[in-house]
Amino acid sequence: MSERRPIIAANWKMNKTIEEAGQFCDALLPKVAELAADTGGPQVVICPPFLALATVVAATKGGPVEVAAQNMHFEPDGAYTGEVSAGMLLDAGALAVVLGHSERRQLFGETDEALSRKVPVALDNGLLPILCVGESEEERERDDTDRVLRRQIDAGLSRVPDERLAEVVIAYEPIWAIGTGKTASPEEAEDACGFIRSLISARNEGAGEGIRIQYGGSVKPANAADLLGREEIDGALVGGASLDPDDFAAIVAAAG
Ligand code: PEP
Repeated sequence: MSERRPIIAANWKMNKTIEEAGQFCDALLPKVAELAADTGGPQVVICPPFLALATVVAATKGGPVEVAAQNMHFEPDGAYTGEVSAGMLLDAGALAVVLGHSERRQLFGETDEALSRKVPVALDNGLLPILCVGESEEERERDDTDRVLRRQIDAGLSRVPDERLAEVVIAYEPIWAIGTGKTASPEEAEDACGFIRSLISARNEGAGEGIRIQYGGSVKPANAADLLGREEIDGALVGGASLDPDDFAAIVAAAG
């Protein structure tokens, strides 16, 4: 049994108004408070849209549930219309930030080079970076999964010193499983998470053992226990099912 604390994160993407975010917290918190507070329980993180960050921070204040943003720029300030910095996220009360989600890579031109700058900036500012990696269906079919994962991991962590590698969380999210209802089998997910761990171990053995690697891609209450029971899988990044407090609480319970 690994000593890594599982981390279950709710990625709301572009969903929920400020009012809906507050209602979700009211419904979720009583269901997960004990599980998340238990020292053996998972770390629970909600990733709302920027505009709802302050509401979720206020609603979760003093409790065990934490808050993450869904993106961040690597510069501290300046002429970057539409962007937010690490300092601004901290100011809003965020503890973590999702970086390199496949939707940002595919739809908004997020590059490996930008991620190689964002991950260390998040760490230097005291934010927990959740770095997303994963192959497309086409890449998996032509047996390119390992090559793609290696490229994304090498780039995303290239400016992180060895002694800080274990502070990053990696989310393995095969693109073909995101929002499609097609989940990677527990074996496929574990193989990929194990491969990612071997890449980190090759840089620093202790970091490989310590780094937490989540699986993401159509995680639901019905499949969560199978996925989260695997030795190499240290939690889940949950999209669709995280919009419903009952479903998300059931996934948290499966990790407990
Ligand atoms: C995600 O948004 O990171 C995700 C995994 O989405 P879903 O759970 O809906 O597949």
